[in-house]
Amino acid sequence: MDSFNPDDVAIRSGHYIGGEYVDVEAGERRIEVARPSDGVVYASVPLADAGMVDRAVENAWLAFKHSGWARMAPRERAKILRRFAELVEADAPMLGRLEALGSTRPIAQAIGWDVPFTAEGIRFYAEFADKLGGDVAATDHDHLGMTIAEPYGVIGAIAPWSFPLVMASWKIAPALAAGNAVVLKPSEMTPFSVLRLAELAVQAGVPAGIFNVIQGDGRVTGDELVRHPKISKVTFTGSTRTGASIMAACANSGTKPVTLELGGKSPQIVFADAPRLDDVARRIAGAITGNAGQVCVAGSRLLVERSLAEPLAERIGKIFAELKPGATWAAGTTLSPIISAPQAARIEGIVGRTLEAGATLRYGGVRADGGADGAFYSPTLLTDVTAHSEAVREEVFGPVLTLQTFDTEEEALALAQHPEYGLAAGVHTADLGRALRFVRGLEAGTVWVNRYGRTSDFMIPTGGFKRSGIGKDLGRQAYEANLRFKSVLIDLRA
Ligand code: NAD
Repeated sequence: MDSFNPDDVAIRSGHYIGGEYVDVEAGERRIEVARPSDGVVYASVPLADAGMVDRAVENAWLAFKHSGWARMAPRERAKILRRFAELVEADAPMLGRLEALGSTRPIAQAIGWDVPFTAEGIRFYAEFADKLGGDVAATDHDHLGMTIAEPYGVIGAIAPWSFPLVMASWKIAPALAAGNAVVLKPSEMTPFSVLRLAELAVQAGVPAGIFNVIQGDGRVTGDELVRHPKISKVTFTGSTRTGASIMAACANSGTKPVTLELGGKSPQIVFADAPRLDDVARRIAGAITGNAGQVCVAGSRLLVERSLAEPLAERIGKIFAELKPGATWAAGTTLSPIISAPQAARIEGIVGRTLEAGATLRYGGVRADGGADGAFYSPTLLTDVTAHSEAVREEVFGPVLTLQTFDTEEEALALAQHPEYGLAAGVHTADLGRALRFVRGLEAGTVWVNRYGRTSDFMIPTGGFKRSGIGKDLGRQAYEANLRFKSVLIDLRA
């Protein structure tokens, strides 16, 4: 994919309700949107207030009731969703540019991974549409007992700024396949690519009003969406703190079921017998520098058997040095910008305080030069840290790796458990028994063995334990979470 000029990308702003852009209304508050790569404010979005949220949800509710989406033959729904996936793929040049322009995703990755992964996720859930309708229960001969799977109605979906298209698709695809309508609120920092996604859904034949997008912040728009009485279920990806307040809002506005995909502080445990040290180093470095560490499952805590610490650190340092920070519209960029200046300052603060408390700076620890005015942070390795160090405890959401050593398996497992988070973990060893002991022992929603990061096996769900979340995205679990199950018992003697 070639570089592109960010000023050449046409931006369509507004809410997308009932298959149409809702233009700015007089007096509506607006939010300025900046490009992470150079900090330039390139557009603005309206902020949906209670009235606009109500309009979107009512519209979705009417479409759910009357458009035929929930009632059509599931294979028909699947056909439309497959067409939607094809349109997403075909639109890669446009969608990829929109994604790269407004988020931290370099264009080569946006086109090479984000867009096709979004399309394939939609296709995956299309295939579920006619596979799960309920069960017949074993009852005595005089009764027929069943569970019938039904869509909820209108799902409220709230997405983060990291991977805007992919994160949104993990919400909308299972919801739509199950026959629901959706009102999606993207992050106010990355509002545009999902508008295009909703347009493509309608072009594919998803009835107008079934997939809506509203723009706004969390405090007003997100909160109004979550609390709306006609939202039957909420699905959220974002920080643990916001997740907790959404859970409270769901409890106080109709005991709504909620899926929460939240923060993490995931360990990577490397034993001295791990095969092919160069590959291990590449995996470890990739897991903290991908999207500049702005990944929920970033492998941010390296735990390494003492004898291997030095050779592994050296190799990681060399890989860090290969990365090329740059604007997301430059074809050669391999290190993403940080989403915003305040977030870069936060990273700097955590690293600075961890060093003041006694840590050693092995690599990085400074702003990087991305050739643009955006915020770039150099891949950083901190050693001489403990479980109490700020950079070990807190989710940094930046390219900051901490290194701790261990001598025994027990010590490694104890260090790996985080007091609050339990999103993902990686174990690197040649010993199968040890790998499986870690699979059993780790408090993490996903454990990767001798790899780090997901493949395109969408059947494997993702989701955290402890304060990393509730429920799953992807897999059969996410499809089922978009259905409610009605129990039926019929007396055949009547
Ligand atoms: P955030 O919690 O600040 O915001 C996420 C979304 O919630 C945004 O759309 C925001 O506008 C909205 N929001 C904020 N306050 C709200 C409220 N009170 N009510 C309703 N909506 C509200 O998170 P972020 O900074 O956008 O994303 C980074 C975080 O997301 C990190 O913690 C990261 O680990 C997490 N994340 C988790 C996963 C996962 O799958 N577990 C994936 C990606 C990101």
